[in-house]
Amino acid sequence: MSGILQTVSCLDGYDPDALRVDKAHEAIRACLSPLKETEAVEVRKALGRILAEDIVPKINVPGHDNSAMDGYAIRFEDLAESGAHLREVGTALAGKPFIGVVGKLQCVRIMTGAVMPEGTDTVVIQEHVQRDDANKKVLIPKDQKRGQNVRYAGEDLKTGVAVLKAGKYLRPAEIGLIASLGIGKVKVKRRLRVAFFATGDELASIGKKLKQGEVYDSNRYTLHGMLARLGVEILDLGVVRDDRAQLKKKFLSAKAKADVIITTGGVSVGEADFVKQLMAELGEVLFWKIAMRPGRPMAFGKIGKAFLFGLPGNPVAVAVTFYEIVRDALLHLAGRTDDYAIPLLHAISSEKLRKVPGRTEYQRGILYLENNLWKVRITGQQGSGVLRSMSEANCFIVLEHERGAVAAGELVSVQLFEGLA
Ligand code: AMP
Ligand code: MG
Repeated sequence: MSGILQTVSCLDGYDPDALRVDKAHEAIRACLSPLKETEAVEVRKALGRILAEDIVPKINVPGHDNSAMDGYAIRFEDLAESGAHLREVGTALAGKPFIGVVGKLQCVRIMTGAVMPEGTDTVVIQEHVQRDDANKKVLIPKDQKRGQNVRYAGEDLKTGVAVLKAGKYLRPAEIGLIASLGIGKVKVKRRLRVAFFATGDELASIGKKLKQGEVYDSNRYTLHGMLARLGVEILDLGVVRDDRAQLKKKFLSAKAKADVIITTGGVSVGEADFVKQLMAELGEVLFWKIAMRPGRPMAFGKIGKAFLFGLPGNPVAVAVTFYEIVRDALLHLAGRTDDYAIPLLHAISSEKLRKVPGRTEYQRGILYLENNLWKVRITGQQGSGVLRSMSEANCFIVLEHERGAVAAGELVSVQLFEGLA
């Protein structure tokens, strides 16, 4: 079975029999309408959520010019070419400013974060001065720079200048930044609701004894994990037999509850046809052969108001299509407008890799450091049913559409599985 069961108008102009991966995001995005609904949450609860308003500071951060170091606040103009002998007239601590004006040839002992005393403009770090405690004198050596070691008001965040835009994904740094403005609640997008189920007569649930030919359903568990990491609301609708009536019921209940429906299995050649028939009967669904491996074919479209992704059944293909195709669509739908493309880095392939031009391949790789060079090797068996290959890997080796076989020592693109923030 190939090609279109029913056209999806927003996809006019794309070839459903050989869609390139690098065109798929654009094609799918053109069909999606991002979430509009928002909710207000306490700032810590906003971690991992998507901002739904611009954050415009009502205060400067820092609020005052202050010292970046422990040392002495001085008036730069007091320094002669050889330095200066200054009189220490007080102390400025973080949260306890020096009260008064610093006059000619005077200085103030100052700590990191303390407000710059009036009259001073420069900080000399304590390691660079000589103190004459008996006479309250401080010897400042030559070669200071005007304004050194001072942090200026508003240098981090400026009143009135938007610092975060609606659509930004909130990481720990943004949570801290919002808190630094004294903001306790923020508006975020409501979570995207994603329903999923697995299809297949051979699938057994955990807790049941396997009959001959059965396998435990793992896709629902992998999918659950990947969706949880994306921060969406998850509706696990279980396993459905390859049975028309049951499938129909499941699709109807899913479309009523969710913004997105993800299924696994039942879209490949030779499958009992009703998964495809039902998708087409209930909605507007296109069956694609995406020019990728693993992963082709998959279905995409709409059932009612819900967007549908029909993923293949093979466990590795589920992971690859999710990360490479579905992830982008879900984040777009969820309302992200910042850049969330997965970075492609380069590493040296330590071995030769088989590849034919005409499709993008995602091999499971192990990125490692050797003699200060980042190298990558594959995890061994690369079959799309070998889920162990995903578990052993720390990256995908991405072999681009046009690329042919790779010789040992060539640079290849990799996508890391783990990110810092
Ligand atoms: P399908 O795309 O339905 O033809 O399935 C392709 C392969 O993936 C078959 O070997 C299935 O047994 C396997 N498979 C399908 N669904 C699952 C699942 N939920 N968990 C584990 N393996 C699956
Ligand atoms: Mg199946």
